[in-house]
Amino acid sequence: MSSTLRFQIVGEAFKKRPVEVPNRKERPSEFFAKYVFNRQKMQQYLPADIYKKMCDVIEGDATLDMATADAVAAGMKKWAMELGATHCTHWFQPLTEGTAEKHDGFVEHDGKGGMIEEFTGKQLVQQEPDASSFPSGGIRSTFEARGYSAWDPTSPVFVFGDTLMIPTIFISYTGEALDYKAPLKKSLKAVDKAATAVARYFYPDVKKVVSNLGWEQEYFLVDEGLYAARPDLMMTGRTLLGHDSAKNQQMDDHYFGSIPMRVAAFMKDLEIKSLELGIPCKTRHNEVAPNQFELAPIFEETNLAVDHNMLIMSLMKKVARKHGFRCLLHEKPFAGINGSGKHNNWSLSTDTGILLHGPGKTPLDNLRFVTFIVESLMAVYRHNGLLKASIISATNVHRLGAAEAPPAIVSSFLGKEISDLLEHLETSTDDELISLSGKQTLSLDIPQIPELTQDNTDRNRTSPFAFTGNRFEFRAVGSQQNCAASMIVLNTAMAEALTNFKTRVDALISEGLEPMKAILRIVREDIKTCKPIRFDGNGYSEAWKQEAARRGLDVETSAPIILDQYLKPETIEMFEGMNVLSKAELEARNEIKLDTYIKKVQIEARIFGDICMNHIIPVATRYQTQLIDNVHRMKQIFPAEVADPLNSTNLSLIKQMGEHNAFIIENVERLIEARRVANRIKDGRERAIAYHDTVAPLIEEIRYHVDHLELIVDDELWPLPKYREMLFIH
Ligand code: ADP
Ligand code: MG
Repeated sequence: MSSTLRFQIVGEAFKKRPVEVPNRKERPSEFFAKYVFNRQKMQQYLPADIYKKMCDVIEGDATLDMATADAVAAGMKKWAMELGATHCTHWFQPLTEGTAEKHDGFVEHDGKGGMIEEFTGKQLVQQEPDASSFPSGGIRSTFEARGYSAWDPTSPVFVFGDTLMIPTIFISYTGEALDYKAPLKKSLKAVDKAATAVARYFYPDVKKVVSNLGWEQEYFLVDEGLYAARPDLMMTGRTLLGHDSAKNQQMDDHYFGSIPMRVAAFMKDLEIKSLELGIPCKTRHNEVAPNQFELAPIFEETNLAVDHNMLIMSLMKKVARKHGFRCLLHEKPFAGINGSGKHNNWSLSTDTGILLHGPGKTPLDNLRFVTFIVESLMAVYRHNGLLKASIISATNVHRLGAAEAPPAIVSSFLGKEISDLLEHLETSTDDELISLSGKQTLSLDIPQIPELTQDNTDRNRTSPFAFTGNRFEFRAVGSQQNCAASMIVLNTAMAEALTNFKTRVDALISEGLEPMKAILRIVREDIKTCKPIRFDGNGYSEAWKQEAARRGLDVETSAPIILDQYLKPETIEMFEGMNVLSKAELEARNEIKLDTYIKKVQIEARIFGDICMNHIIPVATRYQTQLIDNVHRMKQIFPAEVADPLNSTNLSLIKQMGEHNAFIIENVERLIEARRVANRIKDGRERAIAYHDTVAPLIEEIRYHVDHLELIVDDELWPLPKYREMLFIH
């Protein structure tokens, strides 16, 4: 690209353009879930007995038989065709990023030379996508390419464009999970079982415990003309070079400013489409970095919330294009300013209320509150390394520990009041705390838990796992990740913690101890055990890194080594014990994660090398030649004693550029060689480590020199849109 082209593109991006603000006359309540086959539509489109059967299936009280599936499919087809659907697809979440689909038309021969629209129960319930093109981590050798997708009736089908989308799990021919949804559903079942059993100590009528997830999705918007002029952004989702803009987020003016018109129109459009798809969008705002924004719905049951997040990520990309933007979901699109995360707000609730909600009305409520807080901490403490492994990726590593993002050590922030409460409980004795009165079970004299407000619970932005009033907020999740990965770990770890808790409490009860006393005694024991995970200080400090290591927390920072967590004995024991993932499935997941890591770094290294050699070195050399030319001419028109001092600054620039150029050329060669060496390594883990240790750091080293050239080379010659041009366009 010539610089004139760059100026043209930048000019275009800044031009005033007519902003099309979508305008819907109806209220959100009138078009919410318009494209979703929810219970209301089921009731309308299915015979009464079939509707009832489906409700039982969704509740987990019945299994789906083919006759019911056929009847459901018939009603669905009618509804979907009324909305203009012509195709259907199973929609699933393979272990790569994003979602996968394979569309089939509703067409079938009618036997008379014509066509009829058909959609059967079989098509609804099960498909056989060609599994060979999805990663399986060695579970399924390619000649055995069969994999099944199977309908998940707990996540309603929906119409998207002309297609009826059917959320499904994706498993191999031999039954191993090849996706995120299958183990997620198992983890939700496990936590339901374990938490219900514990909740019944307090409320004997509890039937079911549900895991909730409220995600907050951060993203960047960039003008699509500028995006197209940045090969690095197009290929990798982040800028691999680019000097800091003089002004970026220092003034906090973006965060507090009003939403730019062009962006507001995008948000409105996105919100309407999300609401129509049943995603309960609620919050939208500017984020700290320029061009960065956030979107959050009201929390939902975790399985549905995960599907909705996957759906909204693809929706965001589509809607952005309509408005002349590209939506960047990468965790660190721009160096030097905030990256994007996806806070996962997590809690457990029964049909009557949220288990992490405190303080309660009665001492019993308070003990329930403390129990679930402490067992959440036990889960996170025991598996802090694994929780980190669930969010580590080649892209999220650039965000962790930098500007506002949590550090690469998982710890939990509770706020002063709850910390004080736990301190108090830890040192108290049974008799101090429990004075039994007339009615035995209910009258526990637990000190009143003080009123919690947002203000005193949510002020530590560096904490990866912060308690925020009635939920924990896991902040380390990356913006483009599938939330399921961390939700699988968190819910399974919680199921394990609660199961262990109950075993120990029951043992005390069987020795004759009064139940509430038994609970308190185990809670006290666990407060002591999980103490190392509690940290209310500054997560960025060097002192914390050392302190965390002393406490035995996982402080590893190398992504490939962090992934070892998936294969640790306590991980396998937990997942197998809770019946969520087998050892073979864990090995497969680990292998796929390593492979994805390698590929991402490999692509970055390749495109970066190309840009250096084809974009940067040519213009730097051209500008250097211009300066050399100038030096010669100065010498021609002035005597040496005049020309030499005048030439000194240019000579210095020429020399600097020469040094930068030489470094870049030499090290791009080294980068290529490092890749070659790494690629020859057979073992996947060792290869990933080589990419981490030798390839990835070289990119950053070379970048330093490229970014310095950007400061020297004539702006007119510089071929790639600069940070200051990409980050302030509205
Ligand atoms: P913040 O102040 O952290 O930015 P937001 O309002 O942006 O908060 O988002 C908070 C998210 O947490 C929302 O999705 C909200 O619905 C969700 N949330 C609130 N209470 C709970 C809960 N008990 N369990 C899970 N998620 C919750
Ligand atoms: Mg938040």
